[in-house]
Amino acid sequence: MTDAQPRYRKILLKMSGEVLMGDAPFGIDTKTIEAVAEDIKEVTDAGIELCLVIGGGNIFRGVSLAGRGMERASADYMGMLATVMNALALQGALEKVGVHTRVQSAIPMDAVCEPYIRRRALRHLEKGRVVIFAAGLGAPFFTTDTPAALRTAEMGCDALFKGTSVDGVYTADPKKDPEAVRYDTLSYHEVLSKDLRVMDASAIALMRDNQVPIVVFSIRERGNFMKVLKGQGVYTTIA
Ligand code: UDP
Repeated sequence: MTDAQPRYRKILLKMSGEVLMGDAPFGIDTKTIEAVAEDIKEVTDAGIELCLVIGGGNIFRGVSLAGRGMERASADYMGMLATVMNALALQGALEKVGVHTRVQSAIPMDAVCEPYIRRRALRHLEKGRVVIFAAGLGAPFFTTDTPAALRTAEMGCDALFKGTSVDGVYTADPKKDPEAVRYDTLSYHEVLSKDLRVMDASAIALMRDNQVPIVVFSIRERGNFMKVLKGQGVYTTIA
């Protein structure tokens, strides 16, 4: 049997900040981030052009503080800064295993990383560098889902990979409902009309309008990223 080939050539991986917590209730777990970096290396070693977007929920989510009385926009800017911290942590872990990276922030932060410049990001990808997009859209009232979809489109990626703690999209929350069944494939329309909450509706709509598939898989299982990229293992495709 021949070894399966990756199904996509250029992709964006969106991870929620919670992926970096490991089993901790908050923050960044070094063992976990090292393991994620190894999985990413496996994919870049295969010659895949890779963009990353990481959330900030392990450190800070705008809505939670806004719910306790803070102005929503200010809380969201704090959330965006949290995504920059995660991007830098991931950059450190990736460089440690020999993956070349650049962080580009939607909020210019010259002493820390590059500003977001589309053509420069494309050039980095061509040179085999992983580009980590930080600070979301640089605008409040969003989560990192929509910027992930936007950068996927801007970079001309073949697919948007969403790495979560669940191995796909289910009919109900599998952690709460033992009867929940996983979908193998879904249409964008089904996700939106059934309100399946895979990603923000604006992100799904953007991918639908650009005909880019979304692959939802578990990033918690080691080695799974490459497996799913080859069409093996368990995942849900939205197309
Ligand atoms: N955020 C924002 N605009 C953006 C991206 C992020 O305001 O374009 C803020 C928002 O407060 C969000 C926080 O950054 O809650 C962290 O991102 P997210 O909630 O997507 O993190 P995740 O749940 O993926 O870890």
